[in-house]
Amino acid sequence: MLVALMIVSILTMEATIPAYVIYSIYTYSSTGWWLWLPILSVVIAAIVAIMPWCQFIPYFARPIVPLAMVAAAGHARGLLGACASAAFLLAAWALIRRWLNGDSLRLEAIEISPPLAPGVYFVGQGGGNSEVNHHFRNESQRFALDILRLNWLTMRAWGFFPQRLGRYAIYSTQVLCPVAGVVTAVVDGLPDTDPLVQRDTDHIAGNHIVIRCAGASTFVGLAHLLAGSIQVRVGDAVSAGQPLARVGNSGNTTEPHLHIHAKVGGAPDSMLDGQGVPLRIRGRFLMRNDLFRGLSLRKG
Ligand SMILES: [Zn+2]
Repeated sequence: MLVALMIVSILTMEATIPAYVIYSIYTYSSTGWWLWLPILSVVIAAIVAIMPWCQFIPYFARPIVPLAMVAAAGHARGLLGACASAAFLLAAWALIRRWLNGDSLRLEAIEISPPLAPGVYFVGQGGGNSEVNHHFRNESQRFALDILRLNWLTMRAWGFFPQRLGRYAIYSTQVLCPVAGVVTAVVDGLPDTDPLVQRDTDHIAGNHIVIRCAGASTFVGLAHLLAGSIQVRVGDAVSAGQPLARVGNSGNTTEPHLHIHAKVGGAPDSMLDGQGVPLRIRGRFLMRNDLFRGLSLRKG
């Protein structure tokens, strides 16, 4: 426990170092800081949006850098400085989010229900730009999401890249059906691979399920599932919220996560062809570092 707290405080310090830099820039010149304000705002908004949080630094540290910028401006330049910093940061944030969304907001998206049991989840890869979504260059997986879960310390795992799969918060979490439809593909029986060191490149999706959405020509695929956990078969009619499987680490994956994407066209039993379609969960198009809650059990 003590070691965990020590690690967290060291990592949080890492996030506060930029605050010292910001403060020295603010105090360095009495007139030049108006020039620095837009530059710093863009840099900091980009760090907060694009940097993969939870790899080395807990998620709770994420707001520290922008808050430190506002606090440093307030300390050096008073209320006007704090307000101007906050305004520039918000504007930079909105512009950067827009750029990272790409054209996803103009395309027709499919609405899905949260594909996981209650918990707090975090998007590791996702968005309409290759800066935040490594799938983006792949036509079929263009708008795919790689989803991780946060533990109580807002880390995705205990340790940096632990070898024990159980140390990853999402491992073995119940996967719930995201849409009503019919199952068109099931692959099961592939073993978990070792985190970071081993990947099954012969079976990219690992254990997976493909569902054709009811009344539509869209398919949703869910990949890297736990061997033996799949509860549906090809031809089954499924409804949103129904348990499907558990999260594993099968296929071409570096650590346990749920990969999900939607596509149109291609073969009904494949999740690797066709054209990617944006997904929305509770009306939101999600990108890297966005959080969402799992499906509430209260919902019928
Ligand atoms: Zn993926």
